[in-house]
Amino acid sequence: MTIAIYPGSFDPITNGHLEVVGRAAKLFDKVVVGVYATPAKGLLFTAEERVELARQAIGNLPNVEVESFAGLTVDFARKMNAQVMIRGLRMTLDFEREFDMAMMNKKLYPELELVCFMSAQEYQFLSASLLKEVAGLGGPIDSLVPPHVAEALRRKTKNKP
Ligand code: ADP
Repeated sequence: MTIAIYPGSFDPITNGHLEVVGRAAKLFDKVVVGVYATPAKGLLFTAEERVELARQAIGNLPNVEVESFAGLTVDFARKMNAQVMIRGLRMTLDFEREFDMAMMNKKLYPELELVCFMSAQEYQFLSASLLKEVAGLGGPIDSLVPPHVAEALRRKTKNKP
């Protein structure tokens, strides 16, 4: 049984993430979306909220689950008995950072294989940080996230100064 983890901040989960999850769920027996509880970046949603939004978004995929984790991603992979780690790659945004992290993770856990999914063309430009900025300014976000995430973003950004 091949188990893959898909770690990230998911603040919040977007259609770009979900497109990757859908493709991964066809390739691996089980996919665990790992919501990183304490990333070093400004968060809009709490870990519990990010897990809940992700769970609702992927509810129809029987071999996908969502868990939060803290600490090293490789330790989360070990805990989940995962052989594979999934990441998504957008054209210009991700490669260098992913490469650095992949080299480090290879040192920390050599048996863990990294599988990168090229982002779909329509989501190449989509990042959670840009999404939050647009949502905060009242821009249209409905084609970029599931309806319950759009609703949560509108609610959250309205309450922010
Ligand atoms: P992180 O803080 O680890 O980058 P993110 O939630 O921003 O967490 O992203 C999680 C993973 O999903 C990363 O591998 C990122 O490159 C990928 N990703 C983010 N947005 C997209 C997208 N629009 N299409 C495909 N992959 C994406």
